[in-house]
Amino acid sequence: MALRRTRTMLNRISTLNDVCKMLPRDFVPNHLQKEEFVKIARLCGGYYMNDGSINIPHVALGSYCSNGYLKMEPMLQYSNVTQVLAQEMIRNMPSTVRLDNINWVVGSEEARELALDIASILGALYIPLDVLQEYSPSESDTVLHIEGMIDSGRKALAVREALKDARARGVNVIPYIPAVASRPTCDPSVSMQILDAKIFFVPRYCFYEFVSTPKEKCELCRGGSKRMKPEELFAVV
Ligand SMILES: [Zn+2]
Repeated sequence: MALRRTRTMLNRISTLNDVCKMLPRDFVPNHLQKEEFVKIARLCGGYYMNDGSINIPHVALGSYCSNGYLKMEPMLQYSNVTQVLAQEMIRNMPSTVRLDNINWVVGSEEARELALDIASILGALYIPLDVLQEYSPSESDTVLHIEGMIDSGRKALAVREALKDARARGVNVIPYIPAVASRPTCDPSVSMQILDAKIFFVPRYCFYEFVSTPKEKCELCRGGSKRMKPEELFAVV
């Protein structure tokens, strides 16, 4: 039954116009599956994958190469897609988190639309990072930090830094950071800081199929596949 339903939803989403018509209730009670998410991301212009072909480009990430890339911004420009994703993130939270206790929602600037929708669903207040210091939280307040995409984890660490004052005043900052998606990090030092800070990411969709390789060891480069930065790549595909 679930399989049949997934196929139906996948068939229903064939064009960007179909994406624009999606509603959060289309994914209740069944979740948005990863296959559907990838299709939506592709139609919005935020997903790229090179399955090993040297005839198409691959992705340049600093001194690393990647076979694939996912960026959230093209999806988050559609408010209905943002609402669907916000709904998925909340349903993906560990059951130990008391959602009805959350007073504030924060996130990095890129996750602003998602944070707004999640705050709205939870009946909480969205607080932009740049005005965080102006709020005087009480000790009973609980803060949920959310992110759109987890890659190296650097953006999340910057938000945790901004929350330091609030934590010092006794505000409860939930250690779980729900996110739409994650792709593997290639920065061990950041991973260690995340462990030290006792942060637990809760991505709804994991992209283990994206593999980062130092460019000197990249088989795609060696074979002649063009190496392109994400912004160059998405401009041409
Ligand atoms: Zn390469």
